[in-house]
Amino acid sequence: MIPLLSANANAGAVLTIDLDALRSNYRALCSLAGGIECSAVVKADAYGLGIERVVPALWQAGCRTFFVALLDEAVRVLAVVPHARVYVLNGLFVDNAVHFLESGASPVLSSLEEIREWQTTCRSSGKRCPSALHVDTGINRMGISEAEFAVWADNQRQGTDISVTLVMSHLACAEERNHPMNEIQLEKFGEVQRRMIDTPASLANSAGSLLDPRYHFDMLRPGIALYGGNSLLPCSIHLKPVVHLAGRIMQVRDVPSGGGVGYGATWVARRDSRIAVVGAGYADGYFRAATGNRSGPAAYCSIDGTNVQVVGRISMDMITVDVTDIDPDRAARGKFVELLGDNVLIDDFAQFSGTIGYEVLTNLGSRYARVYSGA
Ligand SMILES: *Cc1c(COP(=O)(O)O)cnc(C)c1O
Repeated sequence: MIPLLSANANAGAVLTIDLDALRSNYRALCSLAGGIECSAVVKADAYGLGIERVVPALWQAGCRTFFVALLDEAVRVLAVVPHARVYVLNGLFVDNAVHFLESGASPVLSSLEEIREWQTTCRSSGKRCPSALHVDTGINRMGISEAEFAVWADNQRQGTDISVTLVMSHLACAEERNHPMNEIQLEKFGEVQRRMIDTPASLANSAGSLLDPRYHFDMLRPGIALYGGNSLLPCSIHLKPVVHLAGRIMQVRDVPSGGGVGYGATWVARRDSRIAVVGAGYADGYFRAATGNRSGPAAYCSIDGTNVQVVGRISMDMITVDVTDIDPDRAARGKFVELLGDNVLIDDFAQFSGTIGYEVLTNLGSRYARVYSGA
């Protein structure tokens, strides 16, 4: 059960982040990796869960390489695990190569221009300058093109100053196991790797890690699977939910048959009902889009493992939940309702809002009382 500390007496909802589950997920991914390295993607504040708590927990579990999106995030990672290797996926911005050198973070270079900037900066500093090279194999987002890569790889033989410590690419369609893009990208990345045979190579995000070992190369690069997302990826390893969100019941009211609930009175009771008003809303990242409409139902919550329906529009600071069929002792003022957790997976909630678990995690509100268990 979720530990609800008395320190959270004033919070509308309590967000518990289970660091034991996080470490367990990391170890499960390591077992999938066999002998190769498993890194961790901790961009966007570790998918909303908090770099300062998530990164040391992963380090403790044996993780030594971290990926972030931005340099400021890398600085935060290095502040808590100074000996980690931290790659910055979004790479160099104009004129900030020197900030990378000062920080000790390594850029992921995605163009010949960035490579040149990094070389120039490293040459003038005289420091060792690890970096990753991102080669695009078909997602057409970040990454140096295959043609540019070929030219660069030829010139490499003549020797340069930058040390590329990782060559990587990113899969576009790994979540669809049988998508033809997977094999196409695998083949292209295989060619890249053959040209850089002495450099560690990485292709697989969470979903890619679960495709099959041909996608693993020398390093896995999971994000969402660590945090219990992607519907916990149906697969051979056991992943656990990391996020538990418990919303406080602020009031329970009787609504007679025919009574409307919430803005617009969009939900009308078809029987005499009891409605619990729970202290989290769209300002907390409980998306308003999870309000049901004519084309689909609203999100649900859970009380001791029993699903209860969100009814009426989701408000800024509260939601209304039909608890007519729940024992009044279990749905009473001061009790808590599971909004996310073992019974309401982040991807399930995401579906009701027309989005994905990643967006649910990265929008978890700043008003929740945050509890880290298993620290
Ligand atoms: C975000 C990201 C990952 C991690 O993806 P998940 O789907 O969360 O596992 C890996 N590689 C790159 C380049 C990314 O941008």
